[in-house]
Amino acid sequence: MAKYIFVTGGVTSSLGKGIIAASLAKLLQARGLRVTIQKLDPYINVDPGTLNPYEHGECYVTEDGAETDLDLGHYERFLNLFTTQSNNVTTGRIYQTVINKEREGAYLGKTVQVVPHITDEIKRRMLHLGQNGDYDIVITEIGGTVGDIESLPFVEAVRQLQWELPEEDTVVVHLTLIPYLKAAKELKTKPTQHSVRMLSQEGVHPDIIVCRTERPLTPELRRKIALFCNVKQEAVIEAADAPTIYEVPLTMMREKLDVICLKKFGIAEYAEPELSRWKEFLDKLKYPKSKVTIGLIGKYLELQDAYKSILESFVHAGAVNECQVQIVNVHSEYITPENVGEKLDGLDGLLVAPGFGLRGVEGKITAVKYAREKGLPFFGICLGMQMAVIEFARNVLNLKDAHSTEMDPETREPVIDLMEEQKKVTAKGGTMRLGAYPCDLKPGSLAYNIYGKTPISERHRHRWEFNNKYLDQFEQAGMIASGKNPDTGLVEIVELPGHPFFIGVQYHPELKSTVESPQPVFVRFIRAAKERAEKISEIKKTQLQSSEVL
Ligand code: GLN
Repeated sequence: MAKYIFVTGGVTSSLGKGIIAASLAKLLQARGLRVTIQKLDPYINVDPGTLNPYEHGECYVTEDGAETDLDLGHYERFLNLFTTQSNNVTTGRIYQTVINKEREGAYLGKTVQVVPHITDEIKRRMLHLGQNGDYDIVITEIGGTVGDIESLPFVEAVRQLQWELPEEDTVVVHLTLIPYLKAAKELKTKPTQHSVRMLSQEGVHPDIIVCRTERPLTPELRRKIALFCNVKQEAVIEAADAPTIYEVPLTMMREKLDVICLKKFGIAEYAEPELSRWKEFLDKLKYPKSKVTIGLIGKYLELQDAYKSILESFVHAGAVNECQVQIVNVHSEYITPENVGEKLDGLDGLLVAPGFGLRGVEGKITAVKYAREKGLPFFGICLGMQMAVIEFARNVLNLKDAHSTEMDPETREPVIDLMEEQKKVTAKGGTMRLGAYPCDLKPGSLAYNIYGKTPISERHRHRWEFNNKYLDQFEQAGMIASGKNPDTGLVEIVELPGHPFFIGVQYHPELKSTVESPQPVFVRFIRAAKERAEKISEIKKTQLQSSEVL
C-alpha cells in the first residue's frame, strides 16, 4: 500500500506549492522510493485546456494527451518521469463524473450531495494512483488557498482520509507565508497562525508547516510557530527564497522535510539521497562560462507563466552548454518591418513562441524574416513553425497572400491549413491534436543530427498543419520537411539547410525537457547561439585590433 502526502497552501496564492511538492518528491525519489505527484484544482473547468494563458499560465500537455496544470511540468522536470491524465483533476471533472453516474442511475433513489458523493469521488482520485502497486508514495497538491469556498470539498476529503487511513499512512504539509514587515523589522507569524486555525476548523491538522520567508527563521520563531500551530518544532520548515527553483530540493533536504515525512510514515530505513546529477546540473547553472541573449517572440509576455516550460527548457539547455541564457521578451504585436532591426539587435538567437489567433502574427512573421536573412539562429515552436512557413512562402516563394486559414480563412494560399481530422470538430475542450506522436526524421538533416536517431516522439497541441500540397514547392526552394508523421505524412519539422541554424517544429519540445534529460533541440539551439556570439565577439576583437594598428 502507498503512503499519501497532501500539500495545502495558506495565506496567499503563488507561494510555490508546486515547487515544494516537486522538491519533496525529488528527495524521496532520490532516496530510492517510487513517487508520483498529482494536482487537484478547485476550479470548475473540466481541464485548463480552454483557459487563456493570461488566466492560468501555460497549459501543460502530457504524453497521453491530457491538457493539464503547469505544475505537472514541474513534477516532470524534477522527477524525470511522465505524468498522465490521472495526475490532474479539477472540480469540473469530479462533478462531471458524479453527474454522469447520476444520469446512469448509479445513485438511484438517493439525493446526490457534496458530502458524501463529491468528496467520495475526490477521495477515489486521491487514492487512485497509489492502488496498483506502482508507487510507494503519492503526493497530492491541492490547488488554491485554504479558506476558499471552492477548496472546501478537497480539504474535507483530506480530513476523511486522515481518519480512514492508518495514522502512519498520511502526512499533511501546509505551506504558508511568513511576511517581513519592514517598519517593524520583524517576521510575522500571525497570518500562519490564522491559516492553520482555518485548516483546523475544517478538520485537518497539518503535520508539517513549510514557511515561505525572505529572511531566516530564528529558533525563537520556530518555537512560536510550533506552539501556536500545534506541530513539533522540527516540523516547522524554513523555505527561504531561492535564486533558482532547482535549489529548493537541496534547501528542503537541509531542513529535513523528507526525513520528517518518512518518520511519520514509520519508514526507519532509507538510503542517502542520490542527487549527484542534480548537483552537477546546479553547479553548471550557477557558474556559467559564457552568456547568450535569446529573444522570446510571443504575445502573452506580461505573464511569465504563459511560457513556463520554454523558459525552464532554456535553463536546462543553458546548463548543458555551461552558458547563461538571458531571455529578452519581445512583444510580437509591436514588431514592424521598420523597427525589427532595432528590436532584435544584439540577440544571439530567436525563439518564436506557440500561440493562437491573429493578434501579433505579422510581427512574428517579420521576426522570422529577419532571422532567416541575417543568419540568426532561429527556433520556431508550433505557431512559431507555422509563421516560418508563411514567411518563406511570402518572401521566397513569392506567394504574397500566403497565410494560415486560422488567421485568414479565405486566403488564396493556405500554406497552413486546418488538419483533416479537425474539420468536423466543433467542441473546444480536449479536441486538438494532443499528446505524443511519432516522427520520422530525414537522415542527414539538422533534426536527425540533433536527435541522433529516428523515429522520435514528441508532444503536440494544435489544430492546423503544414499544407502538403505546397511541399514540393517549398523543398525545391530550400525549406525542407525533415520530420514527418509516419502514419499521416504530416510535416512536423521544417528547416533551412543553408542557414546556420533554422528549425521550426510543429510539436512542443519544451514539454519534455527535464533536469536530467534536457531537450536536444533547445540544447543545440543554445549551442548555435553561443557559437554566433563567439564569432561576433571575435570579429569585434579583430576590428578593434585593426583600428588600433591604423
Ligand atoms: N494555433 C496553432 C494551431 O492550432 C498553433 C498552436 C500552438 O502554437 N500550440 O495549429
